[in-house]
Amino acid sequence: MSFEDIPVPIGPVYEGERIRAKQMYVELGGPKMEKHFELCRVISKKEIKDEQVTIHGIDLKDMEEGSTHPIGILVEVAGPELEVDLEAVFERRVHEFCNFVNGIMHLNQRYTNWLRISKTAVEKGFNSFQLLGAVLIRLYKAELPIIEQAQVTFYTNEKEIEKPYAIAVEVYEKRDERARTIHDEDVDMFYGCVLCQSFAPTHACCITPDRTSLCGSINWFDARAAAKVDPKGPLFEIPPGECLNELAGEYTGVNEMIKKRSLGEIDRIYLFSGMEFPHTSCGCFEAIDFYIPEVNGHGIVDRNYGDVAINGLPFSAMANQTGGGKQMPGFNGISIQYIVSPKYQQYDGKIQGLNEGIETVVWMNKGVKDRIGEFLPKDLLPKIATEEDVTDINALKQWLQDVNHPIVATWAEALAEEEEEEWEEEGAMVPMGTVGMTIPGVGGAGGFSIILKNCKVHAEAIIIKKIEPKGRKKK
Ligand code: SF4
Repeated sequence: MSFEDIPVPIGPVYEGERIRAKQMYVELGGPKMEKHFELCRVISKKEIKDEQVTIHGIDLKDMEEGSTHPIGILVEVAGPELEVDLEAVFERRVHEFCNFVNGIMHLNQRYTNWLRISKTAVEKGFNSFQLLGAVLIRLYKAELPIIEQAQVTFYTNEKEIEKPYAIAVEVYEKRDERARTIHDEDVDMFYGCVLCQSFAPTHACCITPDRTSLCGSINWFDARAAAKVDPKGPLFEIPPGECLNELAGEYTGVNEMIKKRSLGEIDRIYLFSGMEFPHTSCGCFEAIDFYIPEVNGHGIVDRNYGDVAINGLPFSAMANQTGGGKQMPGFNGISIQYIVSPKYQQYDGKIQGLNEGIETVVWMNKGVKDRIGEFLPKDLLPKIATEEDVTDINALKQWLQDVNHPIVATWAEALAEEEEEEWEEEGAMVPMGTVGMTIPGVGGAGGFSIILKNCKVHAEAIIIKKIEPKGRKKK
């Protein structure tokens, strides 16, 4: 495979390249665009025009510098051994292969795909989707030899993207519908994926029927098909081994897998908890499950939501907390499909005395609620607030009481625990995980105390500034 005719270098070494707004020539898809997608279809040899690249809409060189455009990427492949189950896994490789190009940053998947092309790449002559299509086709054939023919079509025009976008959404829905038909107890093999390790080296997905990959694009069927055709590839089998904790979804095989794949960084995962030994998150999660301590419940926000969530943080700020391969109790990257699994964060729910994990959810942005509402318990659905119902924590608290959300029943116990902790603090004993510090000379003669209770703080820097009282000028 040669890329001599491509004006920029190509290779895995460029994965993880960041292209900031200042460096970009154009942006494709992403949160500013309503309709964008990437889709892979297996078609017959007769239907395919091998190595053909088609562009519907304007080409890269005709786009204005600094502009944003829709993007649809349709990859069609053929080969005697190909099956429809492989489509989703092939589709996920669009992310990897685009990122092989020095000067392209590709994020996310399905209808949240987001690309930036750098000014440097365009200056070097990488100024047409013909070139990107050629790179994709060559990489598909070289990296996945069961693909014998491939063609790629790009859509960059708002009108022309409409129809293929609708088809793509239909295909995603069919895949998700099928994934809902089986559960962990129906299978004796789980699957892993390390495609995102170039971005998050300690992250590996564990894909089970009840826990679709957090990017939402690879379900258990897809992973099984991929591991079968390419057992040495990025998707692999995980024999579950002994089940150590059914409620939490803790398995010896999954623990061994994460220990090996995270190079010893992480050695334990609860598949069905966002609070204890949660699954690691890379950066591709469709949504975030976040803990809201003030109401002892959880919120869910997806990456399409442009406003701040109920905790006052935008998705992007929470994504920084959640991603990077960390195990971050209270911030868990999830797929939308996982929310409708009966095992959704069941450990967190049951240990609080709730019937199921979904009862911990007190808020979700309307986009998510509209998408999955039909699959959630009918009596719970109206009790989950959205941005249309409440906009701050105090209002949420009142709302939960008014609608008698099941989480309210857990408040008395949570309060009792808190009081117990406070009592311990006042005594001679300082509980584990509680740090008290005094900064003398700041904020008055007596200084002040910052109490950090049962929390982990990760920060590159903490800046403490003295605020001058109004009317008092520095000399
Ligand atoms: S999020 Fe997980 S399943 Fe999806 S591509 Fe990344 S590692 Fe694979």
